[in-house]
Amino acid sequence: SPPATQASTAQSQALFSRAQRVTPGGVNSPVRAFKSVGGSPRFIREAHGAYLTDADGHRLLDYIGSWGPMILGHDHPAVREAVADALSRGTSYGAPGEGEVRLAETVTRLTGVERVRFVNSGTEATMSALRLARGATARKFIVKFRGNYHGHADGLLVEAGSGLMTNAEGHLGRAAPSSAGVPEEYAALTLVSEYNDPVALDALMAERGHEVAAVIFEPVVGNAGVLIPTPNFLAALHRVREHGTLLIADEVMTGFRLSLRGATGLLGLTPDLICWGKIIGGGLPVGAYGGRADVMNYVSPQGPVYQAGTLSGNPLAMAAGLATLQVLENEPALYVKLESYTAQLAGGLSAAAREAGVPLSVNRVGSMLTAFHQDAPDGSIRTYTDAARSDTAAFARWFQQMLAGGVYWAPSQFESIFVSAAHGEAELSRTLDVARAAYLHLGR
Ligand code: PMP
Repeated sequence: SPPATQASTAQSQALFSRAQRVTPGGVNSPVRAFKSVGGSPRFIREAHGAYLTDADGHRLLDYIGSWGPMILGHDHPAVREAVADALSRGTSYGAPGEGEVRLAETVTRLTGVERVRFVNSGTEATMSALRLARGATARKFIVKFRGNYHGHADGLLVEAGSGLMTNAEGHLGRAAPSSAGVPEEYAALTLVSEYNDPVALDALMAERGHEVAAVIFEPVVGNAGVLIPTPNFLAALHRVREHGTLLIADEVMTGFRLSLRGATGLLGLTPDLICWGKIIGGGLPVGAYGGRADVMNYVSPQGPVYQAGTLSGNPLAMAAGLATLQVLENEPALYVKLESYTAQLAGGLSAAAREAGVPLSVNRVGSMLTAFHQDAPDGSIRTYTDAARSDTAAFARWFQQMLAGGVYWAPSQFESIFVSAAHGEAELSRTLDVARAAYLHLGR
């Protein structure tokens, strides 16, 4: 039966008040503030397996997994032991160590890239990969897709929403900055196209391809909610190379999650550069970018494209990442388990919403899932524009019911949830019990 409503959040609220006095908005990353769903965010005290414990002592079934890294579940023994072992040998050297070599050997072996450089976040990975692409091609422009998120570097903080200016054909994108502080001149170097629109991409490249250094994309989108690429769109992505443009797959979210070879491996894509974050650091701050040796050799000190980091290749972070990848590699059945759990979750949510008369459209691939509150067949939402039709107020009400029932869903309609290897039968049935009640509440 569903757990009792979690009434008192006094400790979380007190911490949020204190935090707001010393930190902008009380959080160190915006979505944590629960702005789009309302209410006060839960402050987390500890995390084990599939569960978080908040400051008031409530146990929450976690579907965020730190926004992706915790694929093995929280506090996995192999990761904890690897980090403890590294900790006993000091926390940072500012000089190379064996951990970096071992993680780089593992990443190159698993993914097929020839060289990899470690940084400290996904943002750094995409920012550095783009500088590399510009340095290697001696071109200025980049192309990104509407609704794709690649971190908060200036040139990537462009939204193709109301700021998008289109030409007569309606498919050549020039985006305005989506954040204050990003100069328009800078954003003008970022061209925006629509995800899953191969005609628009071909047209943009036909006109501007000769000046485009790179096309960066999420091979499966998580940041507009989950969007799955169509085969025709993937073919158009591959064609951008006919213009001498580099193809950059942003696998920060999908890397080592959708398969050991990421989304690109799953989809048979062969990008020039790949960016990673999240799982590659096993819950510690790591990002990485890699690719063919002839491209990566432009990076300093080998080549002229500068990129550096005081804490890059940090021994604790390398140990956590390596331990995580080793478990994933040694236990391939984990991916089967993740797939089966998430497929059952998708089916269960669809059925529960239907029974309650709540419009819902589920997109799911591997252990990533978004349940959009709108009346469309499952799997039919393909673009940012499609996703944006969702009823965010209905989602917010559903989210609050889930949270009150002890299930911590992603606090935005336009995010993926992340299932971990620690999610089992008990978690699945508990989630569906709480979800069923939450849809009935909405349907009333
Ligand atoms: N790229 C993608 C696809 C992401 O999902 C994210 C973060 N959610 C980033 C880049 C940025 O990573 P970070 O938050 O580690 O800077």
